[in-house]
Amino acid sequence: MSHISDHIEIFLEKAIPGSYSKDLSRLYLDIMKGRISSRREFSATYGLRSSTVSELVNELVGKKLIYEVADVGTSRGRPAKKLILNQNLFVICIVRISSQTLICNAVNITGQVIEETRSTLNSGCNNGQMIAEVRKLYGDLLEKLSMGVSCAGIVFSLPGILSIERKNWIMSSRWPEINNLSIEDELQDMAVPIKVVRNIDSELRARLFKEDGENILLLHWGFGIGIAYSEGGDPINSKFGRFGEIGHWDLGIKDAEQCRCGRTGCLEVHCALWSIWPDMAQKWPELSKNEEDFMMQAAKFPLLEHNKIQQALRLMVSTLGNLCRVLFPSKILLSGPFFANDEVLAEFYRKFLDDGVLPHVSPPKLTYVHQSEQLETEGAAIPVIVAEIDKRLRHGEG
Ligand SMILES: [Zn+2]
Repeated sequence: MSHISDHIEIFLEKAIPGSYSKDLSRLYLDIMKGRISSRREFSATYGLRSSTVSELVNELVGKKLIYEVADVGTSRGRPAKKLILNQNLFVICIVRISSQTLICNAVNITGQVIEETRSTLNSGCNNGQMIAEVRKLYGDLLEKLSMGVSCAGIVFSLPGILSIERKNWIMSSRWPEINNLSIEDELQDMAVPIKVVRNIDSELRARLFKEDGENILLLHWGFGIGIAYSEGGDPINSKFGRFGEIGHWDLGIKDAEQCRCGRTGCLEVHCALWSIWPDMAQKWPELSKNEEDFMMQAAKFPLLEHNKIQQALRLMVSTLGNLCRVLFPSKILLSGPFFANDEVLAEFYRKFLDDGVLPHVSPPKLTYVHQSEQLETEGAAIPVIVAEIDKRLRHGEG
């Protein structure tokens, strides 16, 4: 179930002043959350006069935020009318990456993905090819949308190192040829607002609405490796987009293979799916190196029998231990396909607890997070959807 209506509720409660606007946003939220479906219900619940409710309904209908339709379930007397949410008032396009697949999702205001286009790009893909593919997938996505549904913004939810403020994709080990890609400059002719966020920050953002104000560390172990961290609210990174890219931590192992970043000894060389997949595929040829597919397969293979996985697990546990000695999170969320394997997850828990953090410091609670890609999409879309709905509710206000 999407958290989007919860986000909108929290935001609107804080953001909209004045009693009339409050009633307008309350009516909108009650319809969105399925608490109210007619004028009469709203009037009775809040003790409002029917003329006031009429004004509110007319305004929401005028702004196309809701529809008022005949209720086919009632046949006697004057036909009742039903208030329903216009779910596809607009969409946000989320451009995200799964392993080496570029995905464009059209997300409606309830957080549902209503259309999708995707294509897989090989490791040699460069800046020009990436931009050309984004244009093509975005164009195809718009063609799939019903008439009248517009796109209110594009959010790039990306792995690697970004410059959030310059909307620049600095590097990603998935495509070593891509560097300093100025996304906004390249796409300025599209005339649609563009935002760039780190993929792991998006995933953590969606989770934060379920958590209280603790210090939360999210560790993603998959095709790449990274962390997101939040101290009592937003993920750290809102401006810069460089925090948490731990995949290129130097482990000091110099005889290792070269990493895609060009250095040797990086954490990803020993632990990331992109790097250890060829060894795993020798033992289990049917294993996919696509993160989404591997996620489905991971539970069914005895991964822990492989010495590469045993080594990767040891290194990931000591990495997480070191992160705890720097950030001291109160809670840790584990995300990614390796943790979908019960034996790997249990061994990870056991080793982490055995190692401990520091004497007299109790280790934080570990929780495995399912559906990391769905959360990423929601977390990337939510801030833009909330801002757009707020703008439309306020539009025309005196
Ligand atoms: Zn590296």
